[in-house]
Amino acid sequence: MHCTKCEGLMVPDDLIDMQESSIPMWMKGWRCVSCGNIIDQLIQQHRDLRDSWSKVKSLSPSISRTDKVPA
Ligand SMILES: [Zn+2]
Repeated sequence: MHCTKCEGLMVPDDLIDMQESSIPMWMKGWRCVSCGNIIDQLIQQHRDLRDSWSKVKSLSPSISRTDKVPA
């Protein structure tokens, strides 16, 4: 796994989350050894969700188009 900011090496890390919940919660995440960029599971899930939505959006116009039907 590589950093999305600097392409540096990401290492597994234990992260503490104090924003999403009233009690501190530990979660697994990834930390870049080069720039310190952190990706946790929630961020990754949001990113995956956004990516899948952008794919759906990019596919939508082609669905209504009938001129590109594969032979
Ligand atoms: Zn980085």
